[in-house]
Amino acid sequence: MTKPGYRIDPADPEAFRRAFHELADACLERVEQARDLPWIPKPDDIAETVALGPDEPGLSEAEVFAIMRGEVMPYATGNTHPRFFGWVHGTGQPMGVAAEMVAATMNANLGGRDHGAMAVEQAVIDWSRRQAGLPEGASGVLTTGTSQATILAMSAARMKLFGDAVRKDGIAGLGRIRVYAAQGAHSCFEKAMEVMGHGSGAVRHIPLGPDGAMDMEALEAAIAEDRADRIVPMAVVGTAGSVNTGNFDRLDAIAGLCRREGLWFHVDGAFGFWAVLAEDPWCDLVKGVDRADSIAADFHKWIGVPYDCGMVLMRDGDLHRRTFSTRPAYLEGQVAGLGGGETWFTDYGLELSRGFRALKVWAGIKAAGVPALSATISDNCRQAALMAELVEASEVLEMAQPVQANVCCFHVTQGDPSAIATALQLSGEAVFSTTTLNGRSCLRAAIVNHRTTEDDVRLAVAAVEREARAAG
Ligand SMILES: *Cc1c(COP(=O)(O)O)cnc(C)c1O
Repeated sequence: MTKPGYRIDPADPEAFRRAFHELADACLERVEQARDLPWIPKPDDIAETVALGPDEPGLSEAEVFAIMRGEVMPYATGNTHPRFFGWVHGTGQPMGVAAEMVAATMNANLGGRDHGAMAVEQAVIDWSRRQAGLPEGASGVLTTGTSQATILAMSAARMKLFGDAVRKDGIAGLGRIRVYAAQGAHSCFEKAMEVMGHGSGAVRHIPLGPDGAMDMEALEAAIAEDRADRIVPMAVVGTAGSVNTGNFDRLDAIAGLCRREGLWFHVDGAFGFWAVLAEDPWCDLVKGVDRADSIAADFHKWIGVPYDCGMVLMRDGDLHRRTFSTRPAYLEGQVAGLGGGETWFTDYGLELSRGFRALKVWAGIKAAGVPALSATISDNCRQAALMAELVEASEVLEMAQPVQANVCCFHVTQGDPSAIATALQLSGEAVFSTTTLNGRSCLRAAIVNHRTTEDDVRLAVAAVEREARAAG
């Protein structure tokens, strides 16, 4: 006895509402208890629990809610926990939980057309553009993350270098091109060059100087060498916060060199771009970012927006649009009505259908406010400095390299870093990741966590010391 229109919409709206409210409460409880909920291993049979049969009979909404709540929700990455320092994982703002609900309710498609959700994405881009110091006329678009943003930026750089015909003619006649990035730059550049057809060999890594930033003399020499070999230099990447060590390149110096050499200046600021919001002295680390031709950054890392959301900003908004706009007849704009609207985000990236990622970003910024974001980012840098102090004071730990902002890498003088990281992940005390620096494995903390306190840092370092001593 199916009522018209009620096959997919809840058959009993009252029951749905009650169950939904309970689920909402369960979500909020999890958020409130985040401090007591570290990563835990998933059950061995979770794949069976969530398997979808070929003839799924359908369950009541309340039953599905119960599975999500009991069998799925507890088994996340654990980056909501205050002592999660592994890799570079954002913590997730509670505002994002609410905004995701509103966005899903609206189910807006932000590829284009004339509707209110578009204004929200534009507001997020305008705010970010001003934080970057890029002029009016610069453009931007929200992406899944920095990896995708990098493909957009490198595509625009290629259009600038070879002209608009590259869209039609492809790359067959272009010869070899080069993108320069510091040793330790993110692998998304190799990936971008691969999907763009140039191959990962188009990325040339430049050694670091003693300050941990890209060695500018080595960069100049590499460019000259490539030109002599008829390899066409296209872009230089300034890494603002490297994924491995948290190092910042000297963006001002790279900007100057790019201007002299006529090269595109891209900033990979996946997390580190947001040092623009930090207090002195950390905001100085991104000095020169306003001279970039393109900037890639994530909202899901240091801004703490729930996954996923990144962004690309481009100085030349017209070039950005020309790199991606394609409007077949069925998408032709109208002057007025839903088919109108000036900016269609599909003209600025790879996607036609696009979700309302902007709302969780907007809500998070609007609720936190710039002062709180600035204080949180600065606190994370202070906490990394505190961690370094504790490491230096310890008999069983030693720094692997100096802390620049929010990443602290250190060695254990006894015990195996990987085994110690695993033990602390399993005990739920803290999540460190590991990396190799100067040929030696070390523990690594990237603090992009608005829940972390100084006590958390002390507790985490004490746990590492305990494990190291036990191994010694
Ligand atoms: C995380 C990261 C990336 C990739 O960003 P995604 O959002 O994961 O695609 C690129 N560069 C740096 C420095 C990063 O930290």
